[in-house]
Amino acid sequence: MPEPTSPAPTFPMHISVAEAREMLAALLPTPETETVPVGQALGRTLAADLQAKVSHPSATESALDGIAAREADTLTASAEAPVRLKIIGESRAGVSFDGEVGEGQCVRIYTGAPMPPGVDAICPVEELRDDGPEHVLLLRPAFPGDVRPEGGDFRAGETVMGAGLWLTAPRVALAAALGHAHVPVLRKLRVALLSTGDEVIEPGQPLLPSQVYDSNRIGLSAMLRESGCEVIELGHAPDSPASLQAAIQGAGGADVLLTTGGVSMGKYDFMRDLLIEHGRVSFWKVRMRPGGPAILGGWNGLPVFGLPGNPVSSLVVFHVIVRPALTGQPVQSLKLRAVTPFRGLPTKTAFWRGVIQDGMVSDYGQQGSGILRSLSDANALVIVPEGGGVRAGEEVDVVLL
Ligand code: AMP
Ligand code: MG
Repeated sequence: MPEPTSPAPTFPMHISVAEAREMLAALLPTPETETVPVGQALGRTLAADLQAKVSHPSATESALDGIAAREADTLTASAEAPVRLKIIGESRAGVSFDGEVGEGQCVRIYTGAPMPPGVDAICPVEELRDDGPEHVLLLRPAFPGDVRPEGGDFRAGETVMGAGLWLTAPRVALAAALGHAHVPVLRKLRVALLSTGDEVIEPGQPLLPSQVYDSNRIGLSAMLRESGCEVIELGHAPDSPASLQAAIQGAGGADVLLTTGGVSMGKYDFMRDLLIEHGRVSFWKVRMRPGGPAILGGWNGLPVFGLPGNPVSSLVVFHVIVRPALTGQPVQSLKLRAVTPFRGLPTKTAFWRGVIQDGMVSDYGQQGSGILRSLSDANALVIVPEGGGVRAGEEVDVVLL
């Protein structure tokens, strides 16, 4: 009797990281637009272009504290031969000087204050000496470069921020500066999250031999919230097809279900079986390490992405596949010089944990996907393409963690 052989799979296997990212993104809905207060827009995706409602600066203003004068009056000023000007008033932020500044005159001026008519240059307070209550001595010429021209940053009506932009803290500040009290953003994706495994228990419980605390669910939930998602917490399910199915019922209303554990080659990897035997599979296994066993499929119309249980694997898959697919933002990498060598793998892209220090990156050392402390100690993923390899001193692509 010949050995029974398993039938050839009907879905793609061993796909590239880029393909995995694209296939996950393709299963996600395009969220509708909603409007939120600008102060609550952090970590959201801008849904429409934003125009400036005002110009910035709104008037030509000083970049420094000092005096505003006519440059031509001050050109000969030096420490040895200061130029003496008459002070005829002051302009401060929010309260401008109304009069006209004539030849040989100046006004005291403060950062952000409008430039009065007639003046075109600033001499900073550090280069001034008082000469009685009404006069000032300039120890160097006043510079036009210290004037911020009206609209020099952006002009009213100008499109300054584009749809699709990921709203970081500096960008929400810019949106406010443009004059927007509310901004249009994409609705948060609703991501249901489930951890699996008979050995996985809640932190706080006593740990029996061979059990492990559920760190993935905590970490993934945090990363999802950092990625601007609404998390539907499904908790944890033991390794049985019935309990997995029961837990998934709770994912109603979710845009996608993310699971961890139970997707590799073991007998008790029921998440895999559930999708392969009773669901729909888009792909199984990605040519990457760590994180290779990831599976994408569907269960009763719900997209399901199964991450491996190993904590480091789930973190890496989240960083290079899940987050970019959920946020629409590409993985940002930079080139750094390697202090240590990084080995390549013949048929997989390697994402080794690295430590960036002094602008260079070295191997974290322990690359096992169960080394949990690396989640805190490493601050980078070093990408070595399939079949590649990096020698010490060479440049390598790095993703910040
Ligand atoms: P699995 O992918 O289910 O075969 O799990 C691989 C490894 O990851 C095993 O050592 C598990 O104990 C561990 N693991 C699985 N799920 C979790 C979790 N939620 N938190 C921490 N470790 C886990
Ligand atoms: Mg398991």
